[in-house]
Amino acid sequence: MTEYISSEQIYDALANLPQLVFEVTDACNLKCKYCIYGEFYEDHDVRENSMLPIDKAIRLIDYLNQYWNSPRCTSANSYMYISFYGGEALMNMDFVKAVVAYIEQLDCPRREFRFSMTTNAILLHRHMDYLVEKKFNLLISLDGNEYNHSYRVDHSGRNSFSRVIINVDLLQDRYPEYFRRYVNFNSVLHNRNSVADIYTFIKQRYDKIPSIGELNNSGIRDDKKKEFNDTYRNTMESLHQAEHYEEIENDMFVSAESYQGLMLYLHQYSGYHFGDYTSLLFDKEKLRYRPTGTCSPFTKKMFVTVNGKILPCERIGQQHYMGLITDDEVVFDAHAIADLFNSYLNRIEKQCSSCQNKAACTQCLFNIEGLNNQPQCHGYMNKQALLRASSAKMAFLRDHPEAYRKIMTEVIIT
Ligand code: SF4
Ligand code: SF4
Repeated sequence: MTEYISSEQIYDALANLPQLVFEVTDACNLKCKYCIYGEFYEDHDVRENSMLPIDKAIRLIDYLNQYWNSPRCTSANSYMYISFYGGEALMNMDFVKAVVAYIEQLDCPRREFRFSMTTNAILLHRHMDYLVEKKFNLLISLDGNEYNHSYRVDHSGRNSFSRVIINVDLLQDRYPEYFRRYVNFNSVLHNRNSVADIYTFIKQRYDKIPSIGELNNSGIRDDKKKEFNDTYRNTMESLHQAEHYEEIENDMFVSAESYQGLMLYLHQYSGYHFGDYTSLLFDKEKLRYRPTGTCSPFTKKMFVTVNGKILPCERIGQQHYMGLITDDEVVFDAHAIADLFNSYLNRIEKQCSSCQNKAACTQCLFNIEGLNNQPQCHGYMNKQALLRASSAKMAFLRDHPEAYRKIMTEVIIT
């Protein structure tokens, strides 16, 4: 078996962790139709209106702090985000405040902590003073105008739009400078909105460019597949249906999928791009590629579920948890994690080794079908497929000649 990742790399990742995300509760005051914990999906724990106990979070922070305070912590960027996620994070503010207070007194000179939260804004009026005081980076979920937002309903089925807007307007009026610097919007694309609708509403009302995501298409229940497909929309197709899509695309820049694709293509295939100083030392062509585009565990973030499960991020099924915070200890076995990871990668390495897209692959291992038996990636590219994809990127560059300079000088991929 090829060893693609070692336990040492995992411990190093813990020491240099850029973000620690707590799922502070699985309770939510909304019941959005497409929520990843909702009716479409089957690969998450049952929701029980639980709250993540503060002592579990503190146990984990103490465990990680031994790495953050060790010589393994070599990251040039000492910033680290402590992030709060739900359910709806504002429903467990006791937890949020206790963790912030604990972090603020932590003896950890090598790291500088910042806070962030994803919220549906329903309770924002109650907690905005605190969030502003602690300079939280706030990501507010808003799907566009009232009709666009109509899948975001409360437990009685009422659209939450007006309650969200009143609170967001209040935050902007009361704290305009904070709003300008720290608030962003996150929208989900579906069959009741479009990229143009979302962009236009949020740009005109708040002068912000939203990040727009598609519905997560893994872990769909068999009996919900048709309904899911009716609800799902593709961002690129949606954008290109807009009348002034070029204008929107240019303004969104790397928030638009076309620029994201080009950025990745240029960064991976240009001989003039180096991800870090050490990559200057090697011949890119001769580097061994790890199968798939999966990040090394915990190099991007650590996600802790309300049940104390530890995952490398919130975008993968919770059955893939890699550690656990129990009532007494943090169970985290880097050797076992590396073994599991390597065994998955070995199962797909044959397919990836002949894939022409391996240098620019962004496919996460944990979202590939059949991972436990015979994984099959639907993004596999033969030579013709890569040529077609390259021609499309070149055509985009011909139409947008300024994009090359902009991407190479303004964008840093971390
Ligand atoms: S989705 Fe996969 S590749 Fe992306 S951050 Fe999560 S674990 Fe890493
Ligand atoms: S696109 Fe799929 S087959 Fe190709 S390298 Fe990525 S994971 Fe492997």
